Amino acid sequence: MNTLELAQKLISIKSISPNDNGCFKIIKDEIIGLGFNVEISSYSNVENLLAKHGSKGKIFCFLGHTDVVPSGPEDQWIVDPFSAQIVDNSLVGRGAADMKSSIAAFINAVKIFLADNPDPPFQIWILLTSNEEGEISDGKIDKIIAELQNKNIFIDYCLVGEASSKHSVGDVLRRGRRGSLTGYLTVHGKQGHVAYPKEVKNPIHACGKFIEKISNINWDQGNQDFDPTSFQISNISSGTGATNVVPGDLQMIFNFRFSPENTADNLKRITSDLLIDLNIEHSLEWVQNAEPYYTKNDDFIEIIQNALLKVNGKKAIIDNGGGTSDGRWISPMGTETIELGPLNKTIHKINEQISLDDLSKLEKIYLAVLEEMI
Ligand SMILES: [Zn+2]
Repeated sequence: MNTLELAQKLISIKSISPNDNGCFKIIKDEIIGLGFNVEISSYSNVENLLAKHGSKGKIFCFLGHTDVVPSGPEDQWIVDPFSAQIVDNSLVGRGAADMKSSIAAFINAVKIFLADNPDPPFQIWILLTSNEEGEISDGKIDKIIAELQNKNIFIDYCLVGEASSKHSVGDVLRRGRRGSLTGYLTVHGKQGHVAYPKEVKNPIHACGKFIEKISNINWDQGNQDFDPTSFQISNISSGTGATNVVPGDLQMIFNFRFSPENTADNLKRITSDLLIDLNIEHSLEWVQNAEPYYTKNDDFIEIIQNALLKVNGKKAIIDNGGGTSDGRWISPMGTETIELGPLNKTIHKINEQISLDDLSKLEKIYLAVLEEMI
């Protein structure tokens, strides 16, 4: 199948996280004839595919996922989100940008590359999971990484096919992502009648002081590739509904997006110290959604930039914004991890899509990256 046919075939499978639902079978059939050794393994609710080609030289790995987020209300789409139809020269469907098209483009780039270079001086791996988008509790690719590390196998370069581009394919790449840390705070007070202020302890008033202080902290300066760490409150609730009652407690949820210049432990410590300093009776629970990752070395980035120069006539700018990605599991091995993929403006939205021009350009870019590896 060519890139468009393969992308359509994959999009037509309803592989909502953490289900692969048969995508791997199609992918396996596509690459087995190219000399790949393909293993499909499952951990808890998740399936993973690891395909390896060659046995000498550096390991170049393409990382991706076959799962997608739910479509949302299907009647709001211009076509059925799992029909993979072409509308106005764009392929429309859930996964068209995030990231079944990237998988199809990479596989076809490999086909063309191996036809011209049957015995390349580096190894080509394809590592795919069926749970990038879903909950950590369902399992992730970290198990595969741990297994590789146990065997002392090390991935040198990892290209993540996530939708990194902004206005045209290849205009933006990521060499890292911020970490994410969520705090669930309960401020304990003492409930009572508003007319008897000496008898109550108002958790809303206490929290006001905390919010003012914490939202004015400079957590770090970031670095040349990362914005400073940011703090945002996403939810706050308290009150009994009555106008004359001071509530007994208050719940607040907040989140840090943190740069590699900071750590989750440091953010937790500063937050807890502040609550203690302000004498706020509280309980606080943390969920760390992701560690930050950052590729400091320039070797792989240069390979990719040279490929972009060849196809696009210009290099990409580096922007490490956005949510989290599976690059975070690979990078701690010391792997140079770079994200480069389609435009991200429609991901997770109604009418997710990729233009046919972008789809063929993506294949050309991935092919040029492979050629630059020689
Ligand atoms: Zn994705």
